[in-house]
Amino acid sequence: MAEMREPIESGCPDPWQYMHPVMRKNFGMWKYHEHPRPGVLLHVAYSGDKIWTVKAGTQRILDVFTLRKLCDIGDEFAEGYVHFTIRSNIEYLVSDESKVQPLIDALEAAGFVVGGTQNSVAMISHTQGWLHCDIPGTDASGVVKAMMDELIDEFRNARMPNRVHITTSCCQINCGGQGDIAINVQHTKPPKINHDLVANVCERPAVVARCPVAAIRPALVNGKPSLEVDERKCICCGACYPPCPPMQINDPEHTKLAIWVGGNHSNARGKPTFQKLVAAGIPNNPPRWPEATAIVKRILKAYKEGAKDWERINEWIERIGWPRFFEEVELPFTKYHIDTWRGARASFNSSSYIRF
Ligand code: SF4
Ligand code: SF4
Repeated sequence: MAEMREPIESGCPDPWQYMHPVMRKNFGMWKYHEHPRPGVLLHVAYSGDKIWTVKAGTQRILDVFTLRKLCDIGDEFAEGYVHFTIRSNIEYLVSDESKVQPLIDALEAAGFVVGGTQNSVAMISHTQGWLHCDIPGTDASGVVKAMMDELIDEFRNARMPNRVHITTSCCQINCGGQGDIAINVQHTKPPKINHDLVANVCERPAVVARCPVAAIRPALVNGKPSLEVDERKCICCGACYPPCPPMQINDPEHTKLAIWVGGNHSNARGKPTFQKLVAAGIPNNPPRWPEATAIVKRILKAYKEGAKDWERINEWIERIGWPRFFEEVELPFTKYHIDTWRGARASFNSSSYIRF
């Protein structure tokens, strides 16, 4: 059995101490696992030991009262050991099958939804949004709540051809990642500069250096040091806004949502894939984002009806081809969707040198 590692000043604590004893005992010695029902996994060890994992969705931004409620359920109906997954689900571990159903009943009675395993629509991963970050152009947890309200039956059941990972990202430049379906902010206008504030708030060389297409130049405006943007070059990425809030790019009308599909970080069965843009200029319409949700539902319906068992969204599209994908999901195909990466030699940052 592995030893506890020495404490270090930073980083997450050693997980060994928090592991269920059956998992510790059988570490690395699992024979197989099964999926007895949506939301439950059964792992069987070579020693004959068994452990059941019950997964429930949470609202991700967790208040202390909800956390206490989840922990109380774990103490009363499980064996006091939980995991949180990267998609904000909580997983309870029990070594006795008779505890599984009472645990599910207790979670559902408290309003949590059990599911999210195997070929379901997993909980949407989200960035920090209006609650925690200072630069978002939309919310993230709000989009998740609005969409999951409509997709909850697909979380509760495992009826999709394969697992579906949906992600959100509330700016174009920082967190977020590849997803089978990704809902990302899209700015459509260059930033508006408040020249009175730039000299007081921004380090101008840092802002100039931040622009990926060298569209920002130092300038004197009304006798004060400020910045100017070459709007013909600007790609509306928003990278200048975090180091210089007077370069405001968020806008209730011109900040939109875009939907991308087919991204996959995994290299388990094939190479990782980049997601590709399929819908742009979607209204950024809180609190329910109905236009974006409708498109996500159309994509999921077409995938569910058209994909073969075990095909992920990128594999399904690869097989049927992009023209047919756009027909099936009833989205217009425009020239803006085409990127064959032929320009990648010039546009990818593949060395440590900065090019303009
Ligand atoms: S995606 Fe951008 S705006 Fe959203 S939390 Fe991350 S850094 Fe902030
Ligand atoms: S939005 Fe992006 S491309 Fe436009 S000026 Fe700012 S950093 Fe440059």
